[in-house]
Amino acid sequence: MLAPMDTISSVVHPRTDCRLCGSADLTQIMDFGQTPLANAYLSSKELDQPEVFASLVVNFCNNCKLVQLRDVVDPKVLFSRYLYVSGTSPVFVAHFADYAKSVTKRFQLSGDSLVIDVGSNDGVLLTQFKKEGTKILGVDPAENIAAEATQSGIPTLAKFFTPETATGVEAEYGKASVITANNVFAHTDDVIGFVEAVKVLMAKDGAFIFEVQYLKDLVEQNLFDIIYHEHLLYYHITPLIPFFKSKGLRVFDVEHIPTHGGSIRVYVGWDDGPHATSTHVEEMCKGESDLNAVHTYEAFMTRIASGKEKLVAMIADIRDQGKRIVGFGAPAKATTLCYAYGIDATMLEYIVDDSPLKQGLYMPGTHILIKPSSALYEDKPDYCVILAWNFAVPIVKNHQKFIENGGIFISPVPEPHILS
Ligand SMILES: [Zn+2]
Repeated sequence: MLAPMDTISSVVHPRTDCRLCGSADLTQIMDFGQTPLANAYLSSKELDQPEVFASLVVNFCNNCKLVQLRDVVDPKVLFSRYLYVSGTSPVFVAHFADYAKSVTKRFQLSGDSLVIDVGSNDGVLLTQFKKEGTKILGVDPAENIAAEATQSGIPTLAKFFTPETATGVEAEYGKASVITANNVFAHTDDVIGFVEAVKVLMAKDGAFIFEVQYLKDLVEQNLFDIIYHEHLLYYHITPLIPFFKSKGLRVFDVEHIPTHGGSIRVYVGWDDGPHATSTHVEEMCKGESDLNAVHTYEAFMTRIASGKEKLVAMIADIRDQGKRIVGFGAPAKATTLCYAYGIDATMLEYIVDDSPLKQGLYMPGTHILIKPSSALYEDKPDYCVILAWNFAVPIVKNHQKFIENGGIFISPVPEPHILS
């Protein structure tokens, strides 16, 4: 059985206007019902205590076409139990090393150039810029993580990125050649305040570069599980161009990159700044026409409903044969997937995850236990659904022995299928 739906309404605030253009002309395109907070993993002692649930509803702005969550969960509640520390994942370390190299080269950064990373976490990106020889500064509201990063040589301010924070930073450090923000630009309810802060700090020839998951990949690959309360905005390029223009800024380039199932790296400068606008920007907009129509999302939700039916039937079939099935990976998106698909501990016996931080905890809402991946060999389940599907390739590669022992991996996306 799923957990009772205890909503603490005071921590949830519905938004009635578009976060980019302010229009109130919004259409509801998705409703995943009341879901638990995706990162609120539970210890065994907390299993009988009430959990915070909030409605997971997605709106479409008919004016600028931005796709966004309706409800905002108080960040203090949302991020109070955050376990994810980016530097722990080797895939991301390699990604950020390439990123720092390419940005340093493209913008000819030197020892005088300041790079500011917003939402810098443990300093995984800034560590790479430090190696490239630039000046660095992190901004991250998580005090414990900021203190640890500072101690390990990555100076980090424990603050939210607001115009006030930016004014203080500028007074002390001067203007930034590059301001980076990875995923946090999709986490912020006050996008306008964020961009005002960028404007305080960005040098005349500077660049604001942010990475966010790409709405087109989300829709085309049926990646509905990346929708959860931390992710308030689901970007495509079309709404961003007029938004930045209205702020005196210009999107001058965009790259499509594979992170998190498909992301975009967007480059923004001053509208009258020196960076010529790449043809990539217009090309990408041309490929987005489907994303600007509500019927695309109706078709998307129909596909999600059929994916649910298929996965639930697969699991029932496996269990009817007396076989055992578990999950691999307990990222935040697994909470949305399990909850939206109604998959609980009676269907997946447990989930394995390589992060020691999560082992021994239980999934929010569904209360599925998280174990180390050694359980695949000690306990020998027959099937394993890869919930961390963005790591499916390394997971299958690292667990050939599970397959050799007769184990079978299942991927839940783009529609449920057997992998091996
Ligand atoms: Zn809008």
